[in-house]
Amino acid sequence: MNLMVYFQSQRGEKQLAIQTAKCTAVVVDGQQGVLKAESSPFSSRKYQSCTIPSQGETHQSVVPPLSMIQRKLRHTDGRADKQKDSINKRIWEVFAMLWIASLCLLLAPSILGAPANKRRQKVLLISFDGFRWDYDRDVDTPHLDKMAKDGVKALYVTPPYLTITSPAHFSLLTGRYIENHGVIHNMWFNTTSTEKKPYYQTQFVNEWWDNGTLPIWITAQRQGLKSGSLHFPGTASSYQGEVAMVQEVEPVFYNYKNETAWRENADKVMDWFSYQDLDFISLYFGEPDGIGHRYGPDSPERQEMVKQVDRTVGYIRHSAEQHGLNDRLNIIITADHGMSAVYRNGLVEEITLSKIPGFSFSDIAFHLVDFGPSGMLLPKPGKLQKVYDALKGSHPHLHVFKKEEMPERLHFAKNDRILPIILWSDPGYVINGYFPVQFHKGEHGFDNQAMDMKPFFRAVNLEVGPFETVDIYALMCHILGIKPEVNDGHLNATKHMLVSSTTTQGEFTSD
Ligand SMILES: [Zn+2]
Repeated sequence: MNLMVYFQSQRGEKQLAIQTAKCTAVVVDGQQGVLKAESSPFSSRKYQSCTIPSQGETHQSVVPPLSMIQRKLRHTDGRADKQKDSINKRIWEVFAMLWIASLCLLLAPSILGAPANKRRQKVLLISFDGFRWDYDRDVDTPHLDKMAKDGVKALYVTPPYLTITSPAHFSLLTGRYIENHGVIHNMWFNTTSTEKKPYYQTQFVNEWWDNGTLPIWITAQRQGLKSGSLHFPGTASSYQGEVAMVQEVEPVFYNYKNETAWRENADKVMDWFSYQDLDFISLYFGEPDGIGHRYGPDSPERQEMVKQVDRTVGYIRHSAEQHGLNDRLNIIITADHGMSAVYRNGLVEEITLSKIPGFSFSDIAFHLVDFGPSGMLLPKPGKLQKVYDALKGSHPHLHVFKKEEMPERLHFAKNDRILPIILWSDPGYVINGYFPVQFHKGEHGFDNQAMDMKPFFRAVNLEVGPFETVDIYALMCHILGIKPEVNDGHLNATKHMLVSSTTTQGEFTSD
């Protein structure tokens, strides 16, 4: 946890400090020292005694409301006071960018204490599908590094389970776990007709998406803001009869990795912000997911795609600057899930349901398998226990649960769309139905505790997080100044990334 706190010495001087999980870095008379915290001031919000070893003095510290920090920053701005300038400089250095496991929150200068700007804050939520938390470990990423320097960064973030595209993206838009928002799979299905529709077609099945939970586009619009979405999962649907004011869905045959198209899309959303004065836009890129599936997360091809992502991040920031948006555009970059290498070619004993003794597809009325590491089964009447008994413990890397016995931490049970038996495999393995038909070298859909499923980690000056991606919704609502719908996230998990509550927005919290 990182937060700037005020801090008062026994002599009564007010100082600024940066609180982290392990210690507090204090700026004393322009010099940085280390404050040994005896307890977290953030939970108690009370004064506490602290000692600065380098100074040998006992001090009292207190966490001020975020609005106080904002006032302080405004107060110091523009003054020819060397000490305050030094403190302000330090604030700029330390609060330089948010790189959050796959989430970067690029704070607009007004948040960071630049000349007070009362203009309404805008939010651009970007998802690079399948960008794992450590994908920059073996690639030069100057633009991502620059973001880390200009904002804040975190270790990684935890996606919701099931760690696949549509469900995880809808959690970003709603702040709800998948069992609560109901978009439980990439595929629409009907257990009676056994019909299934793949990801792209499911975009246009309105009732799949519009089943009670409002995405942030609609909530923002109902509170007087303007929303847009480009290619983000869920864009094509209406919600309680309303749609995002500006929306664009990719065509059915679309090259998700064309860098020129990526730049055109970046310019397009900046035009929407500038000329249509939108307040919130979600923007989706289909990579590095595709390349991670095809070549694996450890491949040179994935490395090249991460370079392309990095160039695009640089281009997006440049485009925002060209459009004069830097003082009010907050850019959040994240992903839906990570990617894990799949073991094949005799390296492991593969999981194939039809080969499991006692299991028969003749006992199954409907199934969703051959979909990476996850599966769901609807046994025929009276066959549930038989199917369960056959599968449970049949393979050391296959997890089998009745819906009502699912671990609560996964939040993937309490929804009528979830089938009675849920399967998932450990990283490295996929679940095959009749025979192996899956040839991807990388997969996702695993337990969200697996590190391979987490979006991005990076440690520079500061670390924030880890937190859950359902927490991002509350942060976006806070920046936009809108009252969130009921959600499963917590603003407390992310608001420490803000130096202030920005503009007059941010009156609403979800905690
Ligand atoms: Zn994927």
